[in-house]
Amino acid sequence: MGKIDKNEILSILDGYDKENVTIATLGSHTSIHILKGAKEEGFRTAVVCEKGREVPYQRFEVADEFILVDKFKDIINEDVQQKLRDMNAIVIPHGSFVAYAGLDNVEDKFNVPMFGNRDILRWEAERDLERKLIIESDIRMPYKYDDPSKIDRTVMVKFPGARGGRGYFVASTPEEFNEKINVMLKKNWIEEEDIKEAHIEEYVAGCNYCIHYFYSALNDEVEVMGMDTRFESSIDGLVRIPAKDQLEIGLEPSYVVTGNHPVVIRESLLPQVFENGDKLVETAKKMVAPGMNGPFCLQCFCNEDLELVIFEMSARTDGGTNTFMDSSPYSYMKFGEFMSMGRRISREIKNAIEQDKLDVIIT
Ligand code: AMP
Repeated sequence: MGKIDKNEILSILDGYDKENVTIATLGSHTSIHILKGAKEEGFRTAVVCEKGREVPYQRFEVADEFILVDKFKDIINEDVQQKLRDMNAIVIPHGSFVAYAGLDNVEDKFNVPMFGNRDILRWEAERDLERKLIIESDIRMPYKYDDPSKIDRTVMVKFPGARGGRGYFVASTPEEFNEKINVMLKKNWIEEEDIKEAHIEEYVAGCNYCIHYFYSALNDEVEVMGMDTRFESSIDGLVRIPAKDQLEIGLEPSYVVTGNHPVVIRESLLPQVFENGDKLVETAKKMVAPGMNGPFCLQCFCNEDLELVIFEMSARTDGGTNTFMDSSPYSYMKFGEFMSMGRRISREIKNAIEQDKLDVIIT
């Protein structure tokens, strides 16, 4: 099956009643403020939700319509897609939407107008493509090792199935790498054939900033919307144990995100923040036309040389935008009113409808 043709999506959009567009998304991740923001901009809203998980959307009163499904992945089912098209829905993708629907299905089978650039989602999902885009933008990334025998400084080791999860580990020598791999094999966290998939990168000892940008394709402008940093288990719990006890208990850390907190960065770093966003947007225009469209996020560490080192990119709204469901200091600076990422998305859609330019931002 081939990729969905943008012309097909545009002809569905042609049949929509533009006065009655519904903003829809999957009920997880960042859907509360996506839907709230849509209501603030005057849209009807719909949530596609796994049965039993609808309570937050009822209690926060952010969804006008509920499409209840047995499993989140059923959003891909033809009857659900038809219900969405019948309500003139524009779907807002987020991390859980892509994870549950499946990237291949989003590319090949999801025949509902979506906000953003469908093609760029693969670029954040595959580490090599992600690295290509960031390096091509001349943005600093952690150094990557192609062979564990070359480890010559502290590195972070990641496995594909465990993004942000269990099984990341830190090592400083090839021997330590092998020791830790053996522990993981014994615990059945990985299989022999996974070892060659290990992604080994320079460990960046710095402070974490996840920077949330919005690229307005209508205005050709990169906006800094907000920033967060993360609570990760078990590493954040481990560092509360005195050093001597840490050595004795021998716990292996993991890096599972359990929450986010808002943060601001020192003002002298803001030129670098804007420069990185601008560079990425320009490269994306060339490498994954038409490029970025809407929210994206650069996760970085700021090292002691005040350099922002980017270790991860999202090419859609990132979970950390939940730290500014009302507004952030940066979005307030820009808009002079409360502006969440969800509201910003709907503002763009509203502007596109008014200017008859939905084809620029829908995919
Ligand atoms: P990721 O799955 O790449 O988003 O990483 C999850 C977490 O692992 C991050 O939030 C960091 O705490 C940690 N981490 C990832 N990459 C590095 C790195 N290169 N240096 C230090 N810590 C890292």
